[in-house]
Amino acid sequence: MSHRVYNFGAGPAMLPLPVMERIRDEFLDYHGMGASVIEISHRSKEFQAIQDEAKALLRELAGIPDDYRILFVHGGARMQFAALPLNLAGRSTTKRCLYAETGNFSQLAIKDAQPFADVKVIVSGADSGFRRVPVLDPATIDPSAAYLHLTSNNTVCGTRWQSFPETGGVPLIADQTSEILSRVIDYRKFGVVYAGLQKNLGPSGMAVVIIRQDLLGQAAPHTPLLLNYTQLDKDDSLTNTTNTFAVYVVKCMLEWLKEQGGVAAMERRNEEKAAVLYRALDGSGFYRGFADPSCRSIMNVTFHLPTPELEKQFVKEALAAGLYALEGHRAVGGLRASIYNPMPLAGVEALARFMDEFEQTHG
Ligand SMILES: *Cc1c(COP(=O)(O)O)cnc(C)c1O
Repeated sequence: MSHRVYNFGAGPAMLPLPVMERIRDEFLDYHGMGASVIEISHRSKEFQAIQDEAKALLRELAGIPDDYRILFVHGGARMQFAALPLNLAGRSTTKRCLYAETGNFSQLAIKDAQPFADVKVIVSGADSGFRRVPVLDPATIDPSAAYLHLTSNNTVCGTRWQSFPETGGVPLIADQTSEILSRVIDYRKFGVVYAGLQKNLGPSGMAVVIIRQDLLGQAAPHTPLLLNYTQLDKDDSLTNTTNTFAVYVVKCMLEWLKEQGGVAAMERRNEEKAAVLYRALDGSGFYRGFADPSCRSIMNVTFHLPTPELEKQFVKEALAAGLYALEGHRAVGGLRASIYNPMPLAGVEALARFMDEFEQTHG
């Protein structure tokens, strides 16, 4: 087999080798059709079976209740930043939509919603430099608001909401792009959960939207058809030609996750993986973790070295050692190890060993 690195990229991110091998093996001839999965109609019974299976597995593995609908939508996570207010702001007579500001992607969600809603940021982690997810005072939740949006795992800063606020009758919306299916969550707490596929689920360019049924039917009249969740639900996500390949990869990823024991088993493994790296950070005077320990993500581990020059050198030497894409996001600099579901424990152990050696030679 050709050489493969341990890929710590934040997204598009690594997929498990068995999933990649299966995709390769099925690529030219899907289930004896004599055609590839990317050559068959999105309206064929074979593709319909793929999408049905993907949705059923997602429902089963994530524990999504029956009164929530599952949509596969175009445009990745960021397209939903605009689609959400278009679909839901009308729930409030003043189009008041509440947001928690906890880092880069939450700020983009706020910005993209502004043309379509009366956006109000009710809590912000800016004063901690987004090292902490702030505590949300329930008294700040306007009960007449259309929804409250938060980013459950902050990919750039490496923080996450450890638990989720009670919002009463205001639907809670979570961007779970960088942590979907990595930990057990109670979907009943949420009106909408959505995620771009490219971190824990498959290729880039699409997202999955999990929406409570009673929140459909309220889109603004000028909502583009392909952003209208009600229309997409009516059409079973096939309003136009979907990304058939992406949905197929999601199905393969979910089958793999089921073989791994499901989300609870994966969460335990993810905790263990993250602990290896946080131990390496905490036991060192050389590396400095970015996120406050009370808010640490188990998907994105962010840290700094004493100087930007050493950080450059670290990235370079790590790559030579087969550890790929460790540079931090341009917004915060430093280093970031993204360790989504597919990253094996051996990968984080290799990184921890490398960190130790690097400290000994450069510390
Ligand atoms: C990666 C990421 C996004 C961006 O996803 P796109 O598919 O590129 O739009 C949005 N939100 C979070 C939390 C992310 O991690």
